[in-house]
Amino acid sequence: MPGIIEALLKLQEVQLEIFELRQEEVSREKRIALHRKELEKIDARAAQLDVALRDAKSAAALGELEVKTREQNIAKHREALKQTKTNKEYNAILTSLNTEEVDKGKCESRALELLAQSDQLRTQREEVEKERQAVLERIRLVDEALAAYRKKTAPQRQALEARRLAACEGIPAPALITFDRVAERHEGAAMAQVVKIHPKREEYCCGGCHIKVTLEVISSLRSRDDLQFCSACGRIFYAG
Ligand SMILES: [Zn+2]
Repeated sequence: MPGIIEALLKLQEVQLEIFELRQEEVSREKRIALHRKELEKIDARAAQLDVALRDAKSAAALGELEVKTREQNIAKHREALKQTKTNKEYNAILTSLNTEEVDKGKCESRALELLAQSDQLRTQREEVEKERQAVLERIRLVDEALAAYRKKTAPQRQALEARRLAACEGIPAPALITFDRVAERHEGAAMAQVVKIHPKREEYCCGGCHIKVTLEVISSLRSRDDLQFCSACGRIFYAG
């Protein structure tokens, strides 16, 4: 077992370098993911505005149509007014004409309101589009930087991968699988030293998470042939 522990420690050294190299990539990937989320929100807002704008436009068109209809009615009433024979008839048509005029005025101001609303929505939509373009540009820049970083570090990554493969040699598959699983959880640091807490007493803790380690684990670590794990953080123990 000491042979395997030593081999795992060497593997961890390489693994930590790989994780370090990955960090910059990871932070850029996270930034891209955040920008994409932002973009989704912007797209949703743009879609909402598109619907509102379409509705406002068709309402404005309807409003204009109504104004025209009222104008036609007014013209008809005016024509009818000329043909009236009695005062009663004249007054009745005049009342209708006046009502129509009032309604037309209302329709006109409503149509103007709707037009103003459309303009406002259009301006908002343009602002959202600008925001969208800015986020797309940010994504493009981070993407570019990420690609450049990957290209620049490719030889380093290849060398590390070769070293990793060499470090894996001789380590039994189950131990490797365990190592990878624990390393994944602790950013490459799968191994933890057992640390003596007290100079005079046989008391130990996990060097990774500082939880106390039982003497049973310590003696197994010294004598037995299987790997010993921290019960709290799951790291693989090695003796100090
Ligand atoms: Zn631990």
